[in-house]
Amino acid sequence: MSDCTFCSIGAGTIPASVVAETPNGMAFRDLNPAAPVHVLVIPKAHAADSAADPINADLWFELMGLVRQVVAKEHLEEGWRLVTNVGPDAGQSVHHLHLHLLGGRRMSWPPG
Ligand code: AMP
Ligand code: ZN
Repeated sequence: MSDCTFCSIGAGTIPASVVAETPNGMAFRDLNPAAPVHVLVIPKAHAADSAADPINADLWFELMGLVRQVVAKEHLEEGWRLVTNVGPDAGQSVHHLHLHLLGGRRMSWPPG
């Protein structure tokens, strides 16, 4: 999608602090981090969200492989959290599927 920021990051036309990359996915640091480690994991191809625009099992597996890479690179042995916000109730602001990987501090539950 031409006017989608995360499509542009995936294509390399908007810069990002990339932590890890696979052929179809990318992990980069959130511009406004909510934890010492806050990395977004995206498919490079546009997908609106996991329910509205299902992605195939191989791509999910690839994205989870990126999560595992980031967990190892960022030394999140003490724990981490994976969150995806979908729709207005969850406060989604970028309408390209993304997983927030958070770590490096104690987190409360349930989230706000
Ligand atoms: P969400 O509210 O779940 O849609 O999350 C969108 C996230 O994307 C927010 O945490 C933003 O800080 C982050 N974000 C928006 N634009 C960029 C960008 N160009 N580079 C890195 N992170 C971004
Ligand atoms: Zn997109």
